[in-house]
Amino acid sequence: MKLYCSLFGHNYEVSKKVTSHVKEYTCKCCKRQLTTNSNGDLTELTPKFKEINSILEEMYLRRTLRSQEKAYSTSIY
Ligand SMILES: [Zn+2]
Repeated sequence: MKLYCSLFGHNYEVSKKVTSHVKEYTCKCCKRQLTTNSNGDLTELTPKFKEINSILEEMYLRRTLRSQEKAYSTSIY
């Protein structure tokens, strides 16, 4: 499997959408994981990046929830 990746390149698919800009990718063949870093480049998904992503995800979800609440209340009044 790893030989396939080194010959033909990794076969990444999005495994998790963290925010609208940050995603996590997993190679279907060798399970190597990448993520988008703060520069918008792809980098190895290390435990440190996993931690950053979970914080980002929480912030993103909270912000999304809040904007939905706002939309809801403005539709009432
Ligand atoms: Zn691979």
